[in-house]
Amino acid sequence: MTARPNAKSTDAQWRAVTRVITGRKTSDGAGVGLTRIIGGPDLPELDPFLLLDEFGSDDPTAYIAGFPDHPHRGFETVTYMLAGHMRHRDNHGNQGDLGPGSVQWMTAGRGIVHSEMPLQENGLMRGFQLWVNLPARDKMTAPRYQDIPAPAIATVTREGAVLRVIAGVTREGVRGPVGGIATDPLYLDVVLAPNAAFAETVPATHSAFCYVYEGGAEITGSAVAQGHLAVLGDGDAVKVRAGGAGARLILVAGRRLNETVARYGPFVMNTEAELRQAVADFQAGKF
Ligand code: MN
Repeated sequence: MTARPNAKSTDAQWRAVTRVITGRKTSDGAGVGLTRIIGGPDLPELDPFLLLDEFGSDDPTAYIAGFPDHPHRGFETVTYMLAGHMRHRDNHGNQGDLGPGSVQWMTAGRGIVHSEMPLQENGLMRGFQLWVNLPARDKMTAPRYQDIPAPAIATVTREGAVLRVIAGVTREGVRGPVGGIATDPLYLDVVLAPNAAFAETVPATHSAFCYVYEGGAEITGSAVAQGHLAVLGDGDAVKVRAGGAGARLILVAGRRLNETVARYGPFVMNTEAELRQAVADFQAGKF
């Protein structure tokens, strides 16, 4: 269902909110507390997105154990840090420091084994990890990292709104630094002043969601409170108006793959046979 705005503003087909999801508290890695928003029983996936975790704590016992060595094959992990430091290291010799405001877009492809560990013993650690599926033709591609430091993320300032453009392109034509991704993603981090509004185009071919992580907002007329994810329906644009406390949210979209998903923990392939091969290759040290 779409709603048309008044004729003089635009011919956009506004995406309505079709579902509102609340994340569930869980832990992963060696005992990191987090909220799973996509990838749990309420929303197992939103093609091409397989998982969205929010982590945020100023209590080191919630994050200090980190994510020791673990494998990935067949998809991409995207870590966006709002606060704190993490270090990743993989079995191919790649290493990086993810600082506040930075993003790492990791294409695991045919396989890596890596660790993601805090580089701090106290203070706030906050951010998101998103898993993005790869199409069948790219699942066995060579691993690739795009480590983007905070200053390299493009910023767009509009009246009452500041957008950080991690991936994709805005109405003004500002393009994020992450490129060459199969699902042609849009990933914006948006800060809205109290009662401020913003609108953005989102390709009609894409699945899209907004996750409100501070304050509250009205998305195409539906109220979405802090800690809730709005799944967006068909259309080619989204409009958001912050409530009286302002809002911070991520707007993420990606082209649907429409392929069968076979999933076992950190392996995401198209068939059960490919999953068995992934486990065998990992156990044989072929990652
Ligand atoms: Mn990982």
